[in-house]
Amino acid sequence: MFDNILLDDFTPPKTTTVERVLSVKHWTDTLFSFRITRPQAFRFRAGEFVMIGLMIAGKPVLRAYSICSPTWDEELEFYSIKAPGGQLTTELQHIQPGDGVLLGKKPTGTLVHDALVPGEHLYLVSTGTGLAPFASVIREPETYDKFKTVILTHTCRTGAELEYGKELVAAIRNDPLVGELVGDRLIHFTSTTRDDSETQRGRITDLIANGELAEATGMPALDPATDRVMICGSDAMLRDLKAMMIERGFTEGSNAAPAQFVIEKAFAGEGV
Ligand code: FAD
Ligand code: NAP
Repeated sequence: MFDNILLDDFTPPKTTTVERVLSVKHWTDTLFSFRITRPQAFRFRAGEFVMIGLMIAGKPVLRAYSICSPTWDEELEFYSIKAPGGQLTTELQHIQPGDGVLLGKKPTGTLVHDALVPGEHLYLVSTGTGLAPFASVIREPETYDKFKTVILTHTCRTGAELEYGKELVAAIRNDPLVGELVGDRLIHFTSTTRDDSETQRGRITDLIANGELAEATGMPALDPATDRVMICGSDAMLRDLKAMMIERGFTEGSNAAPAQFVIEKAFAGEGV
């Protein structure tokens, strides 16, 4: 069981603040989302990640988490895996409204507008929990100021794992703040690789290569002259998709040197 950190005599690690859990929703046996309070001084750019954690047996256990909220939200939302045997998520999956969690003070990341040069169409390509940073980007007015069309792709093993994204996109379309701005400019493309729940089946790499993504979205083939791409997924997915982007003439960008596509790991692994 994790420690109660909402006590008067608890001093959080210097790099963190103590925030309160506001709500929790479990989507599948392995996925949940939660919302916490946002400190007034906490600033971030859409698409960034931050450290989140708990005190477990007297020690801070912190992991990187993409912020799902848009920058205008008064609360902070996260979307999480329940990793089998994982040190943090074995405990984090049991948080309840009113519990305290640790929030890092310094968000950072490369899936941000600053790391891309201007373009016409923005592709946000995700697998698994790699959707999380794009939950922020698709709710950010800046995204629609900068791009004519936004194409969010989400591929998971099973249909149940796509539900968080589907509910989110439906909510955006009806949102009083961004719904009108988004209109029909946000395209949501989903596919599964291990069940038949979706019309589209297969890995996103294959669906790009065989033209099925272009056909289903009505968009032209990926072109570095007009398209910008943010990618978030496993090491293997990033490695394969990065090679495809380079082959198509795209250059990888960063905060220091913006270019045509950017990548970030959805979870730590072997490196790309
Ligand atoms: P760990 O010991 O950290 O992981 C155990 C194993 O579980 C890993 O080796 C890996 O095989 C698997 N695993 C871990 N995280 C994931 C995942 N997200 N999807 C699939 N398999 C995974 N996780 C989130 O759930 N949501 C996020 O928004 C998120 N953002 C991240 C952003 C960055 C930049 C990085 C590097 C990681 C991010 N992660 C995210 C992963 C997160 O940091 C932790 O790995 C995760 O919370 C599990 O922690 P743990 O201590 O329980 O297990
Ligand atoms: P994941 O394994 O990264 O898979 C997410 C999606 O990415 C799947 O549709 C997968 O397709 C696809 N993908 C994998 N490699 C790719 C590549 N090189 N190029 C393009 N697409 C690729 O993430 P996850 O499903 O969230 O699972 C993460 C971890 O949990 C893994 O270590 C896994 O072993 C473990 N796990 C997950 C499940 C589950 O039901 N999600 C169950 C047991 C264990 P493919 O299906 O074709 O690989």
